[in-house]
Amino acid sequence: MSEADFEGRTVLVTGGSRGIGRACCLRLGKAGARVAVNYHSRADDALETARQVEALGAEAMTVQANVADETSVADMVARVNERLGSIDMLVNNAGIFEYVDHEHATLEHWKRTIEVNLTGLYIVTWAVKPQMIEKKFGRIVNMSSISALRPRPYGIAYAASKAGMIAFTQSTADALVSHNIRVNAVAPGLIETEIIDDVDQPTIDRLIDQTPMKRIGTPDEIADVVHYLLSEASRFMTGQTLVASGGRVMLP
Ligand code: NAP
Repeated sequence: MSEADFEGRTVLVTGGSRGIGRACCLRLGKAGARVAVNYHSRADDALETARQVEALGAEAMTVQANVADETSVADMVARVNERLGSIDMLVNNAGIFEYVDHEHATLEHWKRTIEVNLTGLYIVTWAVKPQMIEKKFGRIVNMSSISALRPRPYGIAYAASKAGMIAFTQSTADALVSHNIRVNAVAPGLIETEIIDDVDQPTIDRLIDQTPMKRIGTPDEIADVVHYLLSEASRFMTGQTLVASGGRVMLP
């Protein structure tokens, strides 16, 4: 896999302030990309990500936006273009998860989850794709989840949003392939980040027990998959979802 694939490229990572998004920013910065670190509310964490990217010798900026808000996203893309040039690569990583069983799930919870995880995916992709079409180059990776592939009784809205991301990935990949834009997805299993803070320990223990590798994954392990899907090592792949779950979900 050549790091030359990333030299001179501008990448936007949504939700880059922490967790998996931060690991992606660092991996892609290390590969030589210019990195735009999007965040929603935690400016200090985003600045820390950018500082770590710069320490690797790459250019970085932070950019606030709510992915579920079209105006906010348009403004984000304009600011990235102004500072780092047109966007070559996009990691649609921002997401929320609320641990709620069916008795406590409300319509507000459903709408919030779908708006950020699925509508946000549409809004950001649609804001970025014109510049990819114009230059006939684009690489997009969407952060789904194995929740899309197995029942999640305590995260029905989340599972639905993540399954929607896989269908979105396939259809957009087909629609954009003639413009030399590849669109793929990653479906991580349980990864050590703040998003799983609400999950109780017995549940975590049970999930680890169901995992052949008998452990939780790290953000770096997902960033490596994202790096692969953005690189030319995956040049014959589009519309795919790669599962990285320690073997907990095995697709045919
Ligand atoms: P995390 O540590 O909670 O980070 C979530 C990120 O999303 C933060 O950077 C946050 O920004 C950003 N974000 C949330 N709402 C946003 C909005 N409306 N607009 C823009 N940014 C927003 O979670 P994570 O585990 O790294 O999750 C990253 C992605 O991986 C998510 O899509 C998640 O569903 C997926 N995933 C995670 C796991 C896991 O086990 N960890 C497994 C499968 C899939 P602020 O810092 O500003 O709040």
